[in-house]
Amino acid sequence: MNALEYVPVPAFEDNYIWLVSDGRNAVAVDPGEAAPVRAYLAKRGWRLSAILLTHHHRDHVGGVADLLKDQPVPVYGPAGEAIEHLTYRLAHGDHVSLAEPALELAVLDVPGHTSGHIAYFQASDPRGTPHVFCGDTLFACGCGRLFEGTPAQMLASLDSLAALPGATEVHCAHEYTLSNIRFALACEPGNTELQAWRDEAAARRARNVPTLPTTIAHERAVNPFLRAGEPSIQATLADQLHETVTDRLSAFALMREWKNRFR
Ligand SMILES: [Zn+2]
Repeated sequence: MNALEYVPVPAFEDNYIWLVSDGRNAVAVDPGEAAPVRAYLAKRGWRLSAILLTHHHRDHVGGVADLLKDQPVPVYGPAGEAIEHLTYRLAHGDHVSLAEPALELAVLDVPGHTSGHIAYFQASDPRGTPHVFCGDTLFACGCGRLFEGTPAQMLASLDSLAALPGATEVHCAHEYTLSNIRFALACEPGNTELQAWRDEAAARRARNVPTLPTTIAHERAVNPFLRAGEPSIQATLADQLHETVTDRLSAFALMREWKNRFR
């Protein structure tokens, strides 16, 4: 089997629309707008074959109607959210099997950012590498805001993503990495891997190169929202926020709230 290419197409201010292609056909994940997808497909001579959606937010679904005007393709998305144009409504345990490009994806429920948010896990590409498309649930060094879910739901969703194989390439939907790293360093200033990542990520952004994909192993090492059980993070939260941290859920909830007002 030929290798697959995973391309983050920039959209809006800081979104990425991921395209997965076998060199002829491409799947678009969360096309919030059509124009950048059309332009990239034309540049590469690729044909759109399917659309995958993770959640209902406009910046993830807004380009679907226009792309369907170019070519009617199947649209996959969460069963638990009101989204127009869905051909297939998916929930936890469902599988998506695509022919062109050849993709086998397992659907994971990851509520928290929105109540019906799903992620797509590819256990192995032709080279043996796993991939996950997680929308606005897990970001490089961060996680999505809790618009519709509870901290407990989001923590469970992040736990299920963190349990994927360490080599899994994580295709997040936003370039938020530098600001996430600033917050992560406030939570865990002594994390040397995080300090090194700050320098590397800053160098990439200075060259206008994406910081993504990240990997699950890297996120376990640097992402404070996957590290809420770390005693040093819990001590920092208690100290900075003058709150009592009793367990990883209370640490996670406090951290998520702190991030909302962190500048
Ligand atoms: Zn969103």
